[in-house]
Amino acid sequence: MRMLITGGAGFIGSHYVRTLLSGGYPGYEDAEVTVFDKLTYAGNLANLAPVADDPRFTFVRGDICQAADLDAALPGHDVVVHFAAESHVDRSISGASGFVLTNVLGTQQLLEAAVRHRVERVVHVSTDEVYGSIDEGSWTEDHVLEPNSPYSASKAGSDLLARAYAQTYGLNVSITRCSNNYGPYHFPEKVIPLFVTNLLDGEKVPLYGEGANVRDWLFVDDHCRGIQLVLEKGGPAEIYNIGGGRELSNRELTEMLLEATGRDWTYVDHIVDPRGGGHDLRYSVDYSKTAALGYTPRMSFEEGLALTVQWYRDNRSWWEPLKASAGTALG
Ligand code: NAD
Repeated sequence: MRMLITGGAGFIGSHYVRTLLSGGYPGYEDAEVTVFDKLTYAGNLANLAPVADDPRFTFVRGDICQAADLDAALPGHDVVVHFAAESHVDRSISGASGFVLTNVLGTQQLLEAAVRHRVERVVHVSTDEVYGSIDEGSWTEDHVLEPNSPYSASKAGSDLLARAYAQTYGLNVSITRCSNNYGPYHFPEKVIPLFVTNLLDGEKVPLYGEGANVRDWLFVDDHCRGIQLVLEKGGPAEIYNIGGGRELSNRELTEMLLEATGRDWTYVDHIVDPRGGGHDLRYSVDYSKTAALGYTPRMSFEEGLALTVQWYRDNRSWWEPLKASAGTALG
């Protein structure tokens, strides 16, 4: 089997690729893997260094917006897992065009190429942010889409295109909508790696308002197992929520990160939320449909956070060069 992984040099995609090539997904030990990635600021070949010498691994630098790049890379692949995207909400607020281009047009080009080259199976990685914000309860997959940021609107566009390519062209594509990921190799502009690396360096961290926003945290390895399960057992045009089952306000999260790094609240600056505060106060997914396929998150947040903080302590050579280009706001 040949698999093409778009965005495989990013945070989640590279975790999926490293796990796949280390035999982490039973039945896929012989899979040949092509990472197709534009290497934007978020793409990093260092994320793939552990598998770079694997004979089953190939890297192709390419842009999902370019049909010619896709036509050169895609033929002969049986499976596509589509991670490539512009992924940082705050960057989408200061400049939305690149998000629409990559996430909407790029995904449409990829889906079109998958039809053209008769790819047997596609998984499109979407986000729970397409649902908007929920005060109480949790979203099921049939909940109305009410995205609030240019990022989430562009992801909603790509998510709906994936469904349309299943319905219109018979493409065997499933869609996953996951909650906030965390773990090693996370670019230090997103809240957990930004806070951890700032605090390790004795620098302050920027908390939006009082930190009332609630997020459901999902360890990246649990997310990737969920994607693999959907790849193997999901149906065409079907949507699957993937959650971690652990909701925390940003204030609670900050408290845990201060404790893990031996700092206190004097290291926290309260700043104004560029998203307008009230938007996306809480995210919460109901993942019972994916659980019915066999999904359950394995990593407790305490254990996952401790592992993640330790990884950042041990891997300064990975994140220090990236810090210069990192933003200062929450993901
Ligand atoms: P990331 O920003 O770390 O990685 C994105 C990757 O896509 C990078 O390697 C980048 O170089 C590549 N890329 C960007 N534009 C491209 C293009 N035009 N052509 C080819 N490659 C391109 O993102 P991530 O956090 O790993 O997220 C992966 C996917 O999961 C995204 O689709 C994102 O929307 C989704 N998601 C992420 C989270 C999260 O918490 N990180 C939550 C929900 C959903």
